[in-house]
Amino acid sequence: MTSSLPRVRLIATGGSIAGVGPHRLDYILYPELGKHITIEESLARVPEVNEIAQVQAENLISVGSTAVGPPEWLAMANRINQIFREDTEAAGVAMTHGTATLEETAYFLHLTVKSDKPMVITGAMRPPTALSTDADINLLDAVRIAASSHAGGMGVLTVLNNEISSARDVVKTSTFRVQTFKPGDLGFLGYADSEGEVLFYRAPTRKHTTRSEFDVSGRDSLPRVDIVYAYAGADGMLIDAVRRNGSDGLVVAGFGGGTFPPVFIEAAAQAARDGIPVVLASRSTTGRVIMTPQKQDAGFIVSDNLLPQKARILLMLGLSVTRDREELQRMFREY
Ligand code: ASP
Repeated sequence: MTSSLPRVRLIATGGSIAGVGPHRLDYILYPELGKHITIEESLARVPEVNEIAQVQAENLISVGSTAVGPPEWLAMANRINQIFREDTEAAGVAMTHGTATLEETAYFLHLTVKSDKPMVITGAMRPPTALSTDADINLLDAVRIAASSHAGGMGVLTVLNNEISSARDVVKTSTFRVQTFKPGDLGFLGYADSEGEVLFYRAPTRKHTTRSEFDVSGRDSLPRVDIVYAYAGADGMLIDAVRRNGSDGLVVAGFGGGTFPPVFIEAAAQAARDGIPVVLASRSTTGRVIMTPQKQDAGFIVSDNLLPQKARILLMLGLSVTRDREELQRMFREY
């Protein structure tokens, strides 16, 4: 008998949502144990998903997301694109992931997955072995969103704590609280609540997924971009190290609207003169960095309101296409 429920493809990658703690009160020590349950074990805890979708699950990798970086991003993008290409009946894709780098993986996939179907990432702040774990509800919500026709065309979404955000905007704001993933000034896109509805109140306007120019199929590496964080009295030592390392690009996280200690910014300007694309971002958690005549003359690119770790991803993808500063700046206006 074939089910009339939508088919959701579910990809597991590890993280706290699959973590195993030493006892029920633990939500701190388990990452050091490094043990994970399989996605089949996670699903068995939430039989309610079977009333929402036919879930076809796979374990892609099983790591804490501190161990996720460009090679894993490329593997994830390739696998998700393959699923969307080959399984044309799939309603959407959901993925489980550690929360440490969830926002970075989500933004990378937002720019490289080539489908308008729902694609959603979730994680958990308390492992399934902990009292009051959020692993089960977050998994259920991710399946619900991947199965929802309302979630298409939104780019990559994240859901934790019933709150749906755009991958572009979301950031982990708190070390241990379950309401940690927030999209700053720009607000949640919607909610997945207990009555079963997936509700959206707004949609992202910047380019993503099928409107993105970035194609990582066939790539086995990405340009190297480093981030240097500014602080009172910072000098050029770390920027010089990045420049000498031969990195392909640099993001600097400055104060407020994009200001820096004098010696630090002179080192960054020297890197730009040497031909290294340098993006000015802010260590403030919300708001824009805007181009000024001085920044323009120094050859900098500005991040707009992308956080440094997201600006790095856009610069990595931009550098896979061009090294032209105006073109790279255009990307920061469009994505
Ligand atoms: N160590 C975990 C990770 O994989 C933390 C988490 O998932 O919350 O990122």
